[in-house]
Amino acid sequence: LTSKLPDVGTSIFAVMTQLATEHGAINLAQGFPDFNPPAALTDALVRHAQGSQHQYAPMPGLPRLRELIAEKIARIYGVAAPDAGTDITVCSGATEALFAVITAVVRPGDEVVVLEPAYDSYAPAIRLAGGRPVYVPLRLPDFRPDWDQVRAALSPRTRLVMVNTPHNPTGAVWTAADWQQLAELLRGTETLLLSDEVYEHMTFDGRPHRSALQHAELRERAFVVSSFGKTYHATGWKVGYCVAPAALSAEVRRVHQFVTFAVSTPFQLAIADVLGDAGSYDYLPAFMQQKRDLFGQLMQGTGFELLPSEGSYFQLARYQQLAPGGEADVAFARRLTREAGVAVVPVSPFYHDGTDHGLVRFCFAKQDDTLRAAAERLQQFA
Ligand code: PMP
Ligand code: GLN
Repeated sequence: LTSKLPDVGTSIFAVMTQLATEHGAINLAQGFPDFNPPAALTDALVRHAQGSQHQYAPMPGLPRLRELIAEKIARIYGVAAPDAGTDITVCSGATEALFAVITAVVRPGDEVVVLEPAYDSYAPAIRLAGGRPVYVPLRLPDFRPDWDQVRAALSPRTRLVMVNTPHNPTGAVWTAADWQQLAELLRGTETLLLSDEVYEHMTFDGRPHRSALQHAELRERAFVVSSFGKTYHATGWKVGYCVAPAALSAEVRRVHQFVTFAVSTPFQLAIADVLGDAGSYDYLPAFMQQKRDLFGQLMQGTGFELLPSEGSYFQLARYQQLAPGGEADVAFARRLTREAGVAVVPVSPFYHDGTDHGLVRFCFAKQDDTLRAAAERLQQFA
């Protein structure tokens, strides 16, 4: 069999987690919390596990969950609610939502603009659909788009532009001005927008998350993807969703129904029990900011130079003081896991060509004691 993705190996997140397990390292690599979801949510899941709804959910998601998603969007973004009947599709995590959107709209020969570093699932999905990723590097040190380069990357064949804010792995957060720039570039074109907003509740220092849903012009051409895995510290539940105008959502559903058909009923029921309570997510910016700040303090003196993190639950760092010979980021991340007992993710795998800026990513969505233990190991490594 000739592989359709011959150059694609195992995802770096799985690789580093495996290495962390082998070496008994503290895993600050793969992005997941080491604490439980809110008790109200796990209690609700237990109730529904003992209840009577264990059969297929409706293909686009439980109606009550979609209603609550629509209400939440209206409330937190101050916009007209999407139509729960037609505009929202519950998917098996953001990963499936992204895959369904890309599969639904990208045709052979289509171009898709991807800003790099980029989440690792985007390019394989584009390529499997026969599309061609057109990569635009984000500018260091703040990882903002270079708008001239974005403009140059657009062509009459551009089907889709992919945006991720708050950004994995850099923590960069788009402003209203960023969205406006993009809107001006896309005006008058047929190009669609896929906005990955899974970290929508994790922005720091009073900075708001700006959703594509808040930009009236972009919203008409936007698929916006989010994940309850991130919002409720439940990455293993794999429940996410896509919001898009009815005609676009109809295309997503055509694919979704044949990828998974529907998402786990008890998990949707449990999420619907807590989603109406704004208290179930509005503590998150302060909660994650405290962890970012604690981690930043603990890392002083380790020799890592931390870059700013405006959002997400990730933190980039330069490690050159600890690798004077100019070690590649993948080699350094592996050595750190083995020798310091702390696993991180190198950033070069987020670039199609392995661009190495000498950066590693820490995930700080961990118990304070985990962050302290990791920093202690890193202090000893220094
Ligand atoms: N997009 C980004 C930017 C992510 O970081 C993640 C999770 N790692 C996903 C999508 C996938 O989310 P889910 O776990 O809900 O599939
Ligand atoms: N999104 C997570 C991360 O960035 C990992 C998800 C995965 O392992 N596929 O670390």
